Amino acid sequence: MTTEHAARRVDSWQVAQHQFDIAAERLHLDQALRVILRQTQRELTVHFPVKMDDGTVRMFTGYRIQHNLGRGPSKGGIRYHQDVSLNEVRALAMWMTWKCAVVGIPFGGGKGGVIVDPKRLSKRELEGLTRRFTSEISVLIGPERDIPAPDVNTNPQIMAWMMDTYSMHAGYTVPGVVTGKPLSLGGSEGRNEATGRGVVFCIVEAAKKIGLDLPGARVAIQGFGNVGGTAAKFVVEQGARLIAVSDARGGVHNDEGLDVSRLQSWYQEHGTVAGFPAGTSIDNAQLLAMECEILIPAAMESQITAENVGNVKARIVAEGANGPCTPDADAEFARRGIFVIPDILCNAGGVTVSYFEWVQDLNRDHWTEANVNAKLREIMVRSFNEVMTIADHEQCDNRMAAYLLAVERVADATAIRGLYP
Ligand code: GLU
Repeated sequence: MTTEHAARRVDSWQVAQHQFDIAAERLHLDQALRVILRQTQRELTVHFPVKMDDGTVRMFTGYRIQHNLGRGPSKGGIRYHQDVSLNEVRALAMWMTWKCAVVGIPFGGGKGGVIVDPKRLSKRELEGLTRRFTSEISVLIGPERDIPAPDVNTNPQIMAWMMDTYSMHAGYTVPGVVTGKPLSLGGSEGRNEATGRGVVFCIVEAAKKIGLDLPGARVAIQGFGNVGGTAAKFVVEQGARLIAVSDARGGVHNDEGLDVSRLQSWYQEHGTVAGFPAGTSIDNAQLLAMECEILIPAAMESQITAENVGNVKARIVAEGANGPCTPDADAEFARRGIFVIPDILCNAGGVTVSYFEWVQDLNRDHWTEANVNAKLREIMVRSFNEVMTIADHEQCDNRMAAYLLAVERVADATAIRGLYP
C-alpha cells in the first residue's frame, strides 16, 4: 500500500483527540478541563469567490479554527492544499496549542486552510484568493487575537498579501497580524529557516542522548519544502550524510551523500527533487524504509502508520511535519526503542521565531540574525531537556512526555482563569 492510501484512511482529528485523551488520563485532569480542551473553541468556514484569469468566477472553501486561547492569542499557519478538510485543520489547530505550550511562548493554537492546489493557479489568481480569504477571516484574526503564518504551500509573499489586505481594512499598517513576512515588511531575520534549524537543534540533542555520532550519520528526509529543505542543509552542516530525499512527485537516493546546494537548485528549477541526476530514483515508501540513522518526515500527516512502521530502520525519527506518525506507529517505535522527537517539540522552531517576529513588530524593533538564532537555540534545547526529564521521570515515550508538559501548562492556565460566566 502506498503511504498516500494509508494517510487517506487516518482522521487526524481523531488522532489528535486520542493523543490528548491519553495525556489527560495520565495527568488525572478533571472532567471540566477534559471536555473543554478536547474541543476547538471557534471554527469559521468560508466559501468565497475568486475571479480566474479566463474571466470565470470560482468558489473556494477555507477554514480558520482557534483551538484554545487560554495562554494568549491563537497562533498557527495557513495551508493551501487540495486535501485540506475541517477535521485536518482542527487537528492542526490543537497541535499548535500544545506546541506553543511545550516551548513556553504565550500563544494559544489556531490553524487555517484553503482547499486548493496552488500550483494550478496563476500568480494573479493566487493573490486574489489570498486577499479574499484574508478578508473573509478578518472577523477572527488580528495581532491581539489570532496571528496566521506560513504552512504547507504558503510563503512570505502570501503573508505580505495577507498583511496588506488586513492593513487596507484597518486604514493603517498592521505588521503584527501575520508572521513569516518578508524582511522588508517587518519579517524577522531567521524566520524562513527557523523550523528546519529547530529540527536540527533537536537532532543534535537526541544524538547526544542516544550516543549517536552525527558526523557520518545517514539521514533520509521526506519532503523538501521549507522544513525538509532547510533541515537538510543544517543536518549536513553537522557532518551528517544526506542519503535520500523525496517529495510528493518522487525521490532520489545516493548512499555516498547528496549535495544539498545542487539539490536545492534542482528543486528550484523543477519544483521537485525527482529526477535529480546524482542518484537513483525512489518513491516515498522506499524513502520511509531507508537504511539510515535519522529519518525526518517533513511533509504531511499520517505518513508512518501501522502498515509501514515495520519498514522504518532509523534510530531517530525527527518529526519536521505535524502529525506524520499515527498512534499505531508510536506503539511500534516504543516497542523497538526508536527515539522519536515529537512534532510539538521538533518543529516548534518556526512558531518560536514567529513569536520573536510578533514581539519585534509590536515593539517596532529589529533583532539581528545572531540574536534570533541564539534565542531560538536556547528555547529549543531547554524545551528538549524538559521533555526528556519528564520522559525519564514518568517512564513514558517522548510524545507522551511532551503532551504531559504542554497539556499541564494549558490546563493550569485554563483552570486559574476559571469558567466564564
Ligand atoms: N505552520 C507552522 C507550524 O505548523 C508555523 C506556525 C507559526 O509560525 O505560527 O508550526
